[in-house]
Amino acid sequence: MDIQCTDKELMLLKKISAAAKELGAEAYLIGGFVRDKIIGRPTKDADIVCIGDGIALAHLVAEKFRPKPSVSFFKTFGTAQIKVLDGFEVEFVGARKESYDFDSRKPTVAEGTVEDDQNRRDFTINTLAISLNEANYGQLIDPFGGLEDIAKKIIQTPLAPLQTFSDDPLRMMRAIRFATQLGFTISPITFRAITDNAKRIKIVSQERITDELNKILLAPKPSIGLDLLSKSGLMQLIFPQIMALHGAEYVDGMGHKDNFYHTLQVVDNIAPHTQDLWLRWAALLHDIAKPATKRFEEGHGFTFHGHEVVGARMVPKIFNQLKLPQNEKMKFVQKIVELHLRPISLTKENITDSAIRRLLFDAGDDIDALMMLCNADITSKNKQKVQRYLQNFELVRQRLKEVEEKDHIRNWQPPITGDIIMTTFNLTPSRPVGILKDSIRNAILDGIIPNDYEAAFNFMLKEAQAIQLFPVSPLQE
Ligand code: ATP
Repeated sequence: MDIQCTDKELMLLKKISAAAKELGAEAYLIGGFVRDKIIGRPTKDADIVCIGDGIALAHLVAEKFRPKPSVSFFKTFGTAQIKVLDGFEVEFVGARKESYDFDSRKPTVAEGTVEDDQNRRDFTINTLAISLNEANYGQLIDPFGGLEDIAKKIIQTPLAPLQTFSDDPLRMMRAIRFATQLGFTISPITFRAITDNAKRIKIVSQERITDELNKILLAPKPSIGLDLLSKSGLMQLIFPQIMALHGAEYVDGMGHKDNFYHTLQVVDNIAPHTQDLWLRWAALLHDIAKPATKRFEEGHGFTFHGHEVVGARMVPKIFNQLKLPQNEKMKFVQKIVELHLRPISLTKENITDSAIRRLLFDAGDDIDALMMLCNADITSKNKQKVQRYLQNFELVRQRLKEVEEKDHIRNWQPPITGDIIMTTFNLTPSRPVGILKDSIRNAILDGIIPNDYEAAFNFMLKEAQAIQLFPVSPLQE
């Protein structure tokens, strides 16, 4: 089989071949590496299946490199891994036969032939093997027509699909993930088997499900996978809040757009501009509270007042449910969801410096990410409307730039801190401290007082007086 390998990869394959010969074993390249080389995708790891002792083969291959890479291995699983060629990972495993219990996706494993090993693989495109043995070096072993399926861009299972998915339901997520990453179609019989087995997803750990969901979100066109998850019934089981976005409703001739397909469009729109998983999550969740906040107002139509605030509040629960990190990444997603209407609202009014300053202050360093989402959020079918929005948006961008250059408000902290307020009025942390802090900050953002210590201090004294607070000691200049 003629595949395009770099000189370094060819050298690696020769070393594996020589080591297998020395060991009296057989070695085959298998799975993702072969698939991706044929498609022409970049590869970052390779799987080697060995008829014989995979761990011993890994050790012998490692011996052939200078400096010698360390070998990590797991005796119980018969697998070993080495890192060569600037971080390229090679995994060795003895060829195996698998059988499954109904309650678990962990198979019982026995030694097998290369055909047994191909049988246990999930999709025909992942069963392809290339011999590294002297007698037929480079020969493609393709018992399931994987090469043809790559040419036809089809994903199907090598064995009966119902059994394949019942054995290991994670494969349902993987099928949809590969379809999304590669732009392939899942064969109708295979897709039907996913639909029929969807409920079996419950035996898969949340971490693995979410890992696949993240890969779908990071694909060039995530909507492919999100739509397939929805149509297969999997989305309802793994992420029902997204399914609640489905449906356009009409009352008295007034309607609203289908928020599920709108959301998919927004995620696709943002994909070419960012590989940041969390910004893509923000795109997926930006309208998540629309179902919860939907109202019909007589004579006015449907409204979703406050969906950005309610949505931001929903984020921690969703992150917890999906076992996504509960850290600053989550806070970033919350912030973008909460602020996602702000830039758009600035296109509708006369934009004051104060409104621009407030947006810069609230978004801080995430202003560019926020603007990117808002741009992606413009999905109207009315071309003129889109054009108008985009033009106004350019104006907002321009103003953001001007105001930031003038006032440096992004990441700005007001000159009077809570500590200064507490010391001046001998207060413990309490409500009046927050009130004073807010009013100073607002006065500066609104341009009522300049952004300097003295002006802010004097303003604080006046505000304090109004709520019967007085400095404890003569003021120090
Ligand atoms: P990627 O690296 O993008 O995840 P990959 O195909 O290399 O793609 P791996 O998870 O590294 O995926 O798996 C390597 C190979 O192991 C696959 O190509 C496939 O042949 C097989 N495989 C992985 N997971 C499964 C599974 N759940 N069921 C059956 N075969 C699997």
